Amino acid sequence: MHRSLAVLVLAAGVAAADDPADLILTRGRVWTAEADRPWAEAVAVRGERIVAVGSSAEVEALRGPKTEVLDLAGRLVLPGFNDAHIHLLSGALSLDQVDLIEDQSVEAVQARIKAFAETNPHRPWVLGRGWLYGSFPGGWPTKEQLDAVVPDRPAYMECYDGHSGWANSKALALAGITGETKDPPKGVIVRDPKTGEPTGALKEAPATALVESKIPLPGPEARYELLLRALRLLNSQGITSVQDARSASGELGGDVALLERAKREGRLTVRVRAAAGMKQGDVTGPIATAVRLRSEHEGHLLTFGSIKAYVDGVIEAETAAMLEPYPDGGTGLPNWTPEALSAAVVAADRSGLQVWLHAIGDRGVRMALDAHEAALKANGRPDRRGRIEHIETISPADYPRFKPLGVIASMQPLHANPDQNNADVWSVNAGPDRASRGFGWGSLERAGARLVFGSDWPVVTSDVFRGLYCAVTRKTREGQPPGGWLPEQAVSLESALRHYTIDAAYTSFEDDVKGSLAPGKLADLVVLSDDLFNTPPEAILRTRVDLTVMGGRVVHRAGQ
Ligand SMILES: [Zn+2]
Repeated sequence: MHRSLAVLVLAAGVAAADDPADLILTRGRVWTAEADRPWAEAVAVRGERIVAVGSSAEVEALRGPKTEVLDLAGRLVLPGFNDAHIHLLSGALSLDQVDLIEDQSVEAVQARIKAFAETNPHRPWVLGRGWLYGSFPGGWPTKEQLDAVVPDRPAYMECYDGHSGWANSKALALAGITGETKDPPKGVIVRDPKTGEPTGALKEAPATALVESKIPLPGPEARYELLLRALRLLNSQGITSVQDARSASGELGGDVALLERAKREGRLTVRVRAAAGMKQGDVTGPIATAVRLRSEHEGHLLTFGSIKAYVDGVIEAETAAMLEPYPDGGTGLPNWTPEALSAAVVAADRSGLQVWLHAIGDRGVRMALDAHEAALKANGRPDRRGRIEHIETISPADYPRFKPLGVIASMQPLHANPDQNNADVWSVNAGPDRASRGFGWGSLERAGARLVFGSDWPVVTSDVFRGLYCAVTRKTREGQPPGGWLPEQAVSLESALRHYTIDAAYTSFEDDVKGSLAPGKLADLVVLSDDLFNTPPEAILRTRVDLTVMGGRVVHRAGQ
């Protein structure tokens, strides 16, 4: 009886266990991210799933006349990367703007903007992103610096962290910002201390929105094309899944339609889990939206069920909430009262939503932990997988709270890139004591916290290899400082890879279907040009993705 039942099940299924594979990758080094069997030589894929992982001989037994066989010649195979914190649509839009991310001096920034403006003379606005506070004397850019290269049109450059903006005189005029304009609540129009005139710099979303709301968005077709470009870029970097943190303003409408269209047309080549955004005073509607979207989407290509809130701002603009004052005396600008935050997190958690809390200052992190704790106490859902994003500074008393609360530390290695911006602005504003605990991946791991890694693209590049290199060395890609910045906070290569794969899959409640290479799991994997485990760390930066497979489908091949 049992036997015939088993036969029936196999007959009714798509294929029997020993049917030929569609794709076999063999004679390589396969790092599976499976704790009990981390290494293998070969992988077989049928349809969208992995059907075998093992020795080359074992796996090649599944070869049939139509099987595509790729001889890896010793190359490394990993689970596809999962960027656990990304802003997909902002990233896509940034592909069509001036990219200032690699420029370190005012002159370099100006030259790049000027060149873009000259090659795009018909664009009504000149838009860009990625400037660093540390590039400008005093930490803030001015409208005059932007007028000098774009005198004829409005121009607006978003800071790399998305929390500050830089407008030229035409853009300020269009937004109606003058010396008389009052600061919006929780935002700052930076002013000349003598004249009171706006300097062109704007701090935090309520202020940047004064200009950003005047910028015409590209139409849906243009946005869709940019989204497809972004997906190709991510595939070329070995990324097969992202977790989308949305924009600061948090609206979902048009973005979801673009993602749904890509899914419908078979062009969504990166799995996306997207969070809605809530803010103090606007909680119930976003929760309802997230719950509705969750119920409307099945499968593992496009999923919902998360909601995000910004507890505080950033250290560079002294808006991250701190327990002790900044050098200039302030303690930051939290976006919530602790009571309102806890109530919102409890309400979202009660609806079964996963909650992400952006918290960068040590007081912000504590507020976030308290809110997650309140939700656990109020609703008693143990498997809620609550998240805290960024955690740039933390009180030592709070390291051990993550593990018992089951709160995931979602961090972005390149935010700790020890460059000039870090030394001149971040470390100065944080002060030596807090800076000594900056981006404490090692301390959090030692305290038993579960970490997950991402990029925060377009805040920094989505290139996983840049993130991996910083995670294991705490150095810039130029190799500075020689011993690494706070090297005790670096993590091992294997740990870093887990945070980009299986831990990230856990974070989206999908570790049972992806994130490691095992029979039955979704066939999301990458083949790399170099064996990261057998090269010096510097080689990570030169590594290329030769092949990316998502759901059994080749979505990137080097040279194509
Ligand atoms: Zn972000």
